[in-house]
Amino acid sequence: MNLEEYRGIWVYLEARDGQIAPVSLELLGAGRQMADKRGVPLAGLLIGDGVEELAQTAFPYGADQVYVYDQRIFADYRTESYMRAVIECVEKHKPEIILYGATTTGKDLASAVATDLQTGLTADTTMLDVNAETGLLEASRPAFGGNIMATILCKKHRPQMATVRPKVMKALEADQTRTGEVIKESIKLAEEDIRTKVLKIVRETREKVRLDEADVIVAGGKGLGSKEGFQLIHRFAESIGATVGASRDAVEAGWVDHAHQVGQTGVTVTPKIYFAIGISGAIQHLVGMRNSGLIIAINKDPNALIFQACHYGIVGDAFEIVPLLMKAFQKE
Ligand code: FAD
Repeated sequence: MNLEEYRGIWVYLEARDGQIAPVSLELLGAGRQMADKRGVPLAGLLIGDGVEELAQTAFPYGADQVYVYDQRIFADYRTESYMRAVIECVEKHKPEIILYGATTTGKDLASAVATDLQTGLTADTTMLDVNAETGLLEASRPAFGGNIMATILCKKHRPQMATVRPKVMKALEADQTRTGEVIKESIKLAEEDIRTKVLKIVRETREKVRLDEADVIVAGGKGLGSKEGFQLIHRFAESIGATVGASRDAVEAGWVDHAHQVGQTGVTVTPKIYFAIGISGAIQHLVGMRNSGLIIAINKDPNALIFQACHYGIVGDAFEIVPLLMKAFQKE
């Protein structure tokens, strides 16, 4: 493989309900910095049905170009059809790096593309950099239970690929004067070529948990003692308009759905305020919330690890402290 042939940085622009997913805009911010450092263009790759207009969203956030596959066959996300478009576009234009959001779709697509192209993929990246001379992507992620940060390099294959968790990178301030080039692509692909058919889309009726986009999170742990005890977290969150988060142990006890889990095997969050209540502060929990703006911990054990990671700590029983806080906030 001639690595020199590959040039430029791409971001897979995930189209969701007529919008570009916030994580894709965040990746354009990270991609822009790397593209400038390297002196190469930053492109978006957009696939869908009726999505061409959305390409314009990418330019204020840093893209120079957007490759667009706007075809009926892409109306629903299917691994097979989407990966065929990505692979064809890669083979035609040869980018050195592709970044995807670590969403359900992004993770699925990136791994399928990596397998087919026989190239490297770093999953759930939390830090990105590029070597200005060699173009080598330095993608770092927690490893060994979050105890070390591993920087993973893909030296012999191109494109180098990474999925990146939402809210880890920062989107640029939108510059509405910035414009770019829309490059229309199309692929010959018939329904008969695709083995999967979407028969029906069933929307989840329960309230969607958008932990990664929450400004305030009230998270509870095993210290709440029971499912009934965990209701305190729901009541507190509701009273201040916060989203409920949880430790893995609270989830595994069946007190709250997995969608609320924060941490290494849950969601990474960066709210403005994070309340950690009855949570010990295990490293696997900390890696998912330690970049929060303000961390307030309530724990009855003064030696709990969470007190080393918080800005404010209250030593005490959650069942006494939280009602006092609720009362105080009500007065405000
Ligand atoms: P505990 O560690 O049992 O802590 C409970 C805390 O509550 C204690 O500090 C106690 O002092 C306090 N407490 C008790 N009663 C009260 C009270 N009345 N008022 C106030 N405080 C009280 N964990 C995650 O959270 N997220 C993950 O994504 C995750 N992924 C993992 C992945 C792997 C591979 C592994 C091995 C583990 C993972 N874990 C994860 C589990 C993690 O190691 C811890 O076991 C877990 O975070 C502990 O949850 P906890 O703090 O709720 O419970």
